[in-house]
Amino acid sequence: MDYDVIIIGAGPGGIYSAYELKKSRPDLKVAIFEAGAELTKRRCPIDGEKIKNCIGCKSCSIMSGFGGAGAFSDGKYNITNDFGGTLYEHIGRTKAIELMQYVDKINVENGGGGCKLYSTAGTSLKKTCMQNKLKLLEASVRHLGTDINYVVLENLYNYLKDTVEFFFMTAVKSMEVIEGGYKIIHDGGSATCRQCIVSVGRSGSKWMESVCEKLSIPAKSNRVDIGVRVELPAVIFSHLTDELYESKIVYRTEKFEDNVRTFCMNPHGIVVTENTNGIITVNGHSYEAKDKQTENTNFALLVAKHFSEPFKDSNGYGESIARLSNMLGGGVIVQRFGDLMRGRRSNEKRIAEGMVQPTLNATPGDLSLVLPKRILDGIMEMIHALDKIAPGTANDDTLLYGVEVKFYNMEVKVDENLETEYPGLYIIGDGSGVTHSLSHASASGVFVAKRIAGQL
Ligand SMILES: Cc1cc2nc3c(=O)[nH]c(=O)nc-3n(C[C@H](O)[C@H](O)[C@H](O)COP(=O)(O)OP(=O)(O)OC[C@H]3O[C@@H](n4cnc5c(N)ncnc54)[C@H](O)[C@@H]3O)c2cc1C
Repeated sequence: MDYDVIIIGAGPGGIYSAYELKKSRPDLKVAIFEAGAELTKRRCPIDGEKIKNCIGCKSCSIMSGFGGAGAFSDGKYNITNDFGGTLYEHIGRTKAIELMQYVDKINVENGGGGCKLYSTAGTSLKKTCMQNKLKLLEASVRHLGTDINYVVLENLYNYLKDTVEFFFMTAVKSMEVIEGGYKIIHDGGSATCRQCIVSVGRSGSKWMESVCEKLSIPAKSNRVDIGVRVELPAVIFSHLTDELYESKIVYRTEKFEDNVRTFCMNPHGIVVTENTNGIITVNGHSYEAKDKQTENTNFALLVAKHFSEPFKDSNGYGESIARLSNMLGGGVIVQRFGDLMRGRRSNEKRIAEGMVQPTLNATPGDLSLVLPKRILDGIMEMIHALDKIAPGTANDDTLLYGVEVKFYNMEVKVDENLETEYPGLYIIGDGSGVTHSLSHASASGVFVAKRIAGQL
């Protein structure tokens, strides 16, 4: 065999697998194959001036390369079983939390030490939420910020680079089961290994599907989250964000009894676009450094859509809605909440006159032409509910960007060791459908690495 372990994908799942393997078994020969570029070469060409919109690069620097989809993220490492994935269903609640805390320790040792750990423990905001039909989910969160997250990744790369073999810009095309291990076929040839960790994240979802089909690994897909990104003056949410940084709040709508939740809160942050398979959606992040912070806070409001048989393509449904907004707005659409409530599209004049200066250059439009009624009604109800705990949320000038879609990978059948029915073939991180966050994906990497280290 060429290697003891091959890791496919250098996102948080792959990086923390490699970190743990190197730490506990430096004698093992480990290689990482990554479709994107190394960290220093990751550059999104959108500069807001010459290039304003996504030009569809061959490898998207936001989603691919060392650091994975998390490299330019807000770097919020949430330590919780309440959201961010269902790792606990496989490895148990206590173990999952222990591993997330372990990942946090590594981050702290590698440059994240100065970043605050926020917690919902003992907060009076829980009661305020309850009194207004809102539920605040439990979590501790270390907010690294996009800048410190980058520093941590640089340090982890420097720790790994001399002993782990990295192959960047080398997408794995297919894999085969061979005697005693696995063979991967990539852009520049092939390689073999005794054990293989697949950690291809969301950008590798289509590839993951093809692997599951080829190796007859059962997988199911039935969920997509659809909604908008809300942007408002940071002061409106400051009592929540100062104490908790990110608050995950759930509201059950009166009309349809759907759950609407806040997601990815970025105090003093910016709204950004995201390209998934050529479809432009919206996201957000923020910096730890004060000079890069804005006057605004943004967060997503999402409604989870679960489908039942015979429909199987939940991501396709989300893509179609996002495509509709791309068709109408040439990308992301922005609308004032007041315009949405009055049933009229926003225009540049009204947005420019408003109190909230948009941090993303999006096309003023009408989100009611894009989002299904049930989802839009839920979002409007939730904005009014949030207005009770953060007065001003439902102001006319609050901006809504659409659409935000949270695609879920298919849930791949793995056992309590995150191992497939093929011995030594592990599927982890967001690519497995088990995790949907930095801390869960990283923890899943440490988990399988510890097991492999004990086995080989
Ligand atoms: C803008 C943005 C902000 C975010 N903010 C947060 C946040 O604050 N907190 C949080 O918890 N989560 C956040 N997330 C989500 C988080 O980034 C992911 O949950 C996390 O990165 C998943 O890690 P992963 O290793 O499983 O997958 P990924 O990070 O997606 O990494 C997978 C890697 O595999 C590579 N790959 C794919 N297919 C192949 C192939 N065939 N061959 C070789 N390589 C391949 C990809 O190029 C990629 O680099 C954010 C995501 C985005 C896009």
